[in-house]
Amino acid sequence: MSNTKKPLPAGLALETLAVRAGMDRTQHKEHSEALYLTSSFTFDSAEQAAARFSGEEEGNVYARFTNPSVTLFEERLAALEGAEDCIATASGMAAINAMIMANLSAGDHIVASSSMFGSTIQLLGNILPRFGIETTFVPLTDTAAWAAAVRPNTKLLFCETPSNPLTEVGDIRALAAIAHQHTVLLAVDNCFCTPILQRPMDLGADIVVHSATKYLDGQGRVLGGAVCASKAIVEKIFIFLRTTGPTLSAFNAWVLGKGLETLSIRIQAQSASARALAQWLESHPSVERVYYPGLPSHPQHALAMEQQRAGGAIVSFEVKGGKDAAWRVVNSCQLLSITANLGDTRTTITHPATTTHGRISPEARAAAGIHDNLLRVAVGLESVDDIRQDLERGLAISS
Ligand SMILES: *Cc1c(COP(=O)(O)O)cnc(C)c1O
Repeated sequence: MSNTKKPLPAGLALETLAVRAGMDRTQHKEHSEALYLTSSFTFDSAEQAAARFSGEEEGNVYARFTNPSVTLFEERLAALEGAEDCIATASGMAAINAMIMANLSAGDHIVASSSMFGSTIQLLGNILPRFGIETTFVPLTDTAAWAAAVRPNTKLLFCETPSNPLTEVGDIRALAAIAHQHTVLLAVDNCFCTPILQRPMDLGADIVVHSATKYLDGQGRVLGGAVCASKAIVEKIFIFLRTTGPTLSAFNAWVLGKGLETLSIRIQAQSASARALAQWLESHPSVERVYYPGLPSHPQHALAMEQQRAGGAIVSFEVKGGKDAAWRVVNSCQLLSITANLGDTRTTITHPATTTHGRISPEARAAAGIHDNLLRVAVGLESVDDIRQDLERGLAISS
């Protein structure tokens, strides 16, 4: 929302935008981005204060509204997603909630994928109904079910692709066509791919939401979120956020802005390692099945390769022998971090059935295909040989 920046040349690649977009130097001409740790801003006169408050004059007023460090991160991410505008939030969940609250009202309806992040399911399924917003959940890959679930009061289609932990791939173009046929918005949670591997707006999505906590930071340091959309949609979300308060801190924004600079090389290296790991796992005698969109064995491989630049850094697999065998692999790891988080430089391993998806009933879990022998690995930046060796410790015992 600053207008003093030198415009960049047109047609720059994502790698260039990631390190150049949004830069706005102070009078000191610093090379790295300044960090604006200030809660409020001063005015030259009573007249200017009045003009800033009325909106007659653009500029910073109070950090719950705007802050230059936050603006830089927003402009850089908007450039990467190919979005007209972007607004940052305190976390990924704050982004999802703000996106819904700003665009929907009591009496409205959402169609959402049944394979969404746990807290998203909780928000849509248990919290929003208390405020009169109902959600119908449909299988991500069943495009006909999405079309059939649309009602006259539907205002939003919402998905996450690839999904967690089974890496199912939704057809963004097909969902956008359904949405626009009914004058409904399509929102995509682009957390797993990031704009480097997938740009949902190029495929017809109206809104992209992010948990910046994951790959955008990529180093496990801060919480953050963002919504990318048209100026008109972002303006509505801005009014909701500045009024209700879950805005991004300047410090976190500064960290996230630096995170974006290395996003491209990180996610491509992690994705390449994930592909190598998935191939190895697929040929391992102790492994029953591998879920990775970059493998030809994946049910939506062709679609994934059409709408993604690579398979991504998340690999899930089923170990022969059930829960005990899966836990043995986890407990044999000397290098991989046992944590439910993902999108870090350090590889993480999770047993979804007893952690991220542990509160779902065993029947619902089975219906969702999350079996007790499933493990999810979020590949980091270690040598893939070392990751392989760490998993082999437990897999060798399992076979
Ligand atoms: C983590 C995550 C979120 C929530 O983000 P927070 O920053 O933890 O609030 C939303 N969607 C997906 C896909 C996630 O992985």
